[in-house]
Amino acid sequence: MKAQSLLGCFLAKQPQIALQQIPSILRQTYGLNVKDVKALPGDRDANFRVLDIHGGEYFFKVVNAGESTVRSDLQVALLVYLASQSLSFGTPQLIASSRGQFQEIVELTPGESIRVRLQKWIQGVPASNANQSCVFSSNLGVGLANLQMALTSFAPAHEEAEVLPWDMQNVLDLREYIELFDDLDVRNDLYSLLRRFETLHPWFSELGSQFIHGDFNLNNALIESGSSDQLAAVLDFGDAVRAPKIFDIAIAATYQVLPDYSIQNALDFVQGYNTVIPLSELELGMIFDLIGARLATWLILGRWRGNHDPDRAAHFLRNESTALRLVKAHITTDRNEAVNSFKRIYTRDMVMKDTLVNRRRAIFQNALPLMYDKPIQLVKGEGVWVTDDGGRIYLDAYNNVPHVGHGHPKILAALHEQAVRLNTNTRYLDDKLIIYAERLLQLFPNALGACLFACSGSEANDLAIRLGRSYTGANGIIVTRNSYHGSTHLSSSISGAYGPSGDAGFQVAVIDLPAPSATAKVMVDLINDAICKLESNGSRLLGFILDPCLTSDGMPRLPDAWLSSVVSAVRCAGGLLIADEIQSGFGRLGRFTWGFEAHGLIPDIVVLGKAIGNGHPMSAVVTRPEILDAFSEHGPYLNTFGGNPVSCAVGMAVLDVMRDQNLQIQAQLIGDILGAELRSLQCQSDLIADVRGQGLLWGIEVKNANGLASTGVAKLLLNSLRGHGVLVGATGPMRNVIKIRPPLIFAEEHVVLLRRRLQDAFNMFQRR
Ligand code: PMP
Repeated sequence: MKAQSLLGCFLAKQPQIALQQIPSILRQTYGLNVKDVKALPGDRDANFRVLDIHGGEYFFKVVNAGESTVRSDLQVALLVYLASQSLSFGTPQLIASSRGQFQEIVELTPGESIRVRLQKWIQGVPASNANQSCVFSSNLGVGLANLQMALTSFAPAHEEAEVLPWDMQNVLDLREYIELFDDLDVRNDLYSLLRRFETLHPWFSELGSQFIHGDFNLNNALIESGSSDQLAAVLDFGDAVRAPKIFDIAIAATYQVLPDYSIQNALDFVQGYNTVIPLSELELGMIFDLIGARLATWLILGRWRGNHDPDRAAHFLRNESTALRLVKAHITTDRNEAVNSFKRIYTRDMVMKDTLVNRRRAIFQNALPLMYDKPIQLVKGEGVWVTDDGGRIYLDAYNNVPHVGHGHPKILAALHEQAVRLNTNTRYLDDKLIIYAERLLQLFPNALGACLFACSGSEANDLAIRLGRSYTGANGIIVTRNSYHGSTHLSSSISGAYGPSGDAGFQVAVIDLPAPSATAKVMVDLINDAICKLESNGSRLLGFILDPCLTSDGMPRLPDAWLSSVVSAVRCAGGLLIADEIQSGFGRLGRFTWGFEAHGLIPDIVVLGKAIGNGHPMSAVVTRPEILDAFSEHGPYLNTFGGNPVSCAVGMAVLDVMRDQNLQIQAQLIGDILGAELRSLQCQSDLIADVRGQGLLWGIEVKNANGLASTGVAKLLLNSLRGHGVLVGATGPMRNVIKIRPPLIFAEEHVVLLRRRLQDAFNMFQRR
């Protein structure tokens, strides 16, 4: 029976070990010469305070035999991990044995062994004994939030399947033990507390999970001696589990209401937490009922353990009268009022957020639009996940700048290492610039053997056009109807999407994209008309600039030979092909490193941006040496930041990670799975007109119930997906193509989640 195994771990007795045995164990295992040992109170393990002859103080733990190896190892990994984090308070520091192990098996007698760990003694006063100041609760809340932030990235090699009785995820399994209480009134109270918990259950999967402390009570928090509110250390990670963060908060808040049921202390605690990690309204609205569930757990487990271990019944039942009193106080509290008092923390925050939006608009006017109807304030990114100020985690299926994932440690390390050492400019000789440029050029056909660096895609496109002009002496440019090439004067004036003005000294001709069924003649006519238009305005053709995936144009389907016929016409007229690979490059397409390869063409100039620096502002222009030569005749290329040593270190790290993690192949494999999922979704939804793409660049063209291309439906879907924790974008002339363009570390499990959320969103609109 599940509940039996839930409490099974309590059946193993506390290790029985005599005080006199400790010194010899410590000498043999750790080389420690013990002067004094004292037993400490413990629930399951046997714990000791040890003093050595040099005055060193230690905490020695003999682990309960009921604890699995995986769990013990996990605790060791967790403590080692935390010791490497820079926290403003201490965590237990493990001491290695003479054999260099943080955990040892010691044989007491043949066949009888114990598992032990030694830690440095941590100075401080248990928060339960501290003289608590008025900011005590709020400071502890801040402490827990900082601890959770540090734990976000903790990912042990193994996680146990074992169920832990104190784990809030198992609360409902305690229901059958309510019958241990004879008093009907108590039973009823416990049943209602668990029922309240049950109503929250469906929401838990929305909250995400990470490792949490699991028992942040006042004995596990030490306050600095002599202070009334400064957290000195957090102890005892024996209940750490992967769970929603809100469980940790509610567990900690439960101990704040002790001993006199002060909800105000719990509110202060949560308020403190919320200043570091803002909580969502959903999470805040749960806290009161989660506190109830924790009180019920406290009461039930104490009773069960008291009944099962008569020798230690007094120990296990010592808190029963307090727990009974608190359960009664909780159940008789006005629930609505209490839940609302927690939610008000969020409302206060929302008012502040509205203020932020207004302040933003006052400064930036309408020049900086926001992505969603309800703007998201992102505060953290890791891998394919981003977290908002409410602690809500979103799957990032949209951002292509963090190409190898948000906050990739290797990229950050490379950036930090070079930034600490030196950052200058390209007028000093620097091997990194050369090595990086050589590495980058290896990714291109031999003909493209020269490059320059800049800081943004726009700047690089601008430079590409200037290179083309120097080489051809011409100023006529062809662009696609809805293309986007940047925000500088020149790159914006040649962007089709802005209705190109060509007012930067260039003439621009826009070409429309032919339907997939268009004949060769239609295609050639379109391009020749554009060339003629330029000539009639007195311009010769400089070239055709094109995003090979036509991302802003909505990634339309085109006749197979479209681009090759366009390019022959362009070259015939003396023009160059400029590939703007800012969206399509660096392996995103899976089967191809660059978008131009998908068309079997070699451009004259290639422009790189976004992914090149994984978020660090850098860009590049790759070209033929003779084109760069022609440009240099007009003077040198000066760029204060382009190609600086930090950018080169970052760019190199991106290439390393791409290679080491096989990300282009991953884009291909995962892209194929994603494509198949999207196509199967198309079969189930009347709102999908088409699905197209490759690798990790996909578009879902949506239509309304009348079968017409619909900006509105796409916008609703975008906002609905945001509400369901998934970020995607919209593109195309009508912005009716949902754009999926995640970091290349996107894996199958992310595809599964994305597909599920897309399906939910489409189903929702289908029902309207
Ligand atoms: N070209 C393309 C195809 C782009 O997608 C972008 C950015 N959206 C740019 C140019 C401009 O790049 P940046 O914003 O880095 O200047």
